[in-house]
Amino acid sequence: MDLKHINGILCDLDGVLYNDGVLIEGVVDTIKALKQKGYPFLFVTNTSGITSHELFHKLEKMGIPLQEDEVLSPPLATRDYLVKHNFKNAQVLASSSIKEMIYEKIEQNIENPEAIVVGDIGKNWDYELMNELFLKVMNGSKVIGLHHGRFWKASEGLRIDIGAFIKGLEFATSTTSVCIGKPDKSFYESAIQKIGLNASELLMIGDDIIGDIQGAKEAQLTAIQVKTGKYRKELTEKAIVQPDIIVDDFNILNTLLEEL
Ligand SMILES: [Mg+2]
Repeated sequence: MDLKHINGILCDLDGVLYNDGVLIEGVVDTIKALKQKGYPFLFVTNTSGITSHELFHKLEKMGIPLQEDEVLSPPLATRDYLVKHNFKNAQVLASSSIKEMIYEKIEQNIENPEAIVVGDIGKNWDYELMNELFLKVMNGSKVIGLHHGRFWKASEGLRIDIGAFIKGLEFATSTTSVCIGKPDKSFYESAIQKIGLNASELLMIGDDIIGDIQGAKEAQLTAIQVKTGKYRKELTEKAIVQPDIIVDDFNILNTLLEEL
């Protein structure tokens, strides 16, 4: 497949540019080279524990050449979603920095919120909280998840993730929630709008067959899967949606986009 139609790059972070916080060799030079060729970048990630602003500083510290407006993660995309869909108020369950960022544009309402935004609150889940949220949803509040993760891998082992609590609320109330992160279409729509190009001109590069590849293809983007990070041959082979190209790692992008 040729990539003549590509004018911009959406790039996942974890597993593409770094593993366990350690940069993959060559990625800094590759990003610089691609930017010099005139390709705009948007770094798109499901990282939800910190704001996009905090994430930008973390990436900058790692040495990744980027500007703050080149990062899109679920907390910011959630605020965009609330604004776009005319939510006037919300209750946000997330870190204090994420709450602050969302409440800048959306009024806080704990009593009777139009939306309940569910982010990462660690061990603060219990019966009382679930029941409180259950009652609010029964009363009309809409649940909006920063993502629908089933579980995640902490240093001490696997831990249940917010998707399980969100699905529990859906089950108890017979409602459906909104999911903001990849692979959701609204996340890709925010990304397309933010980078300011058409879907057909964009390339998504990622390691996750569902979040990155399926999500990008469903949003009509060209999708490249890297064999680094969480890539597993068997998962890709049995996936319904296939990447346009599978490459060894991110650095090959420089060669692929040079052959034009
Ligand atoms: Mg990844």
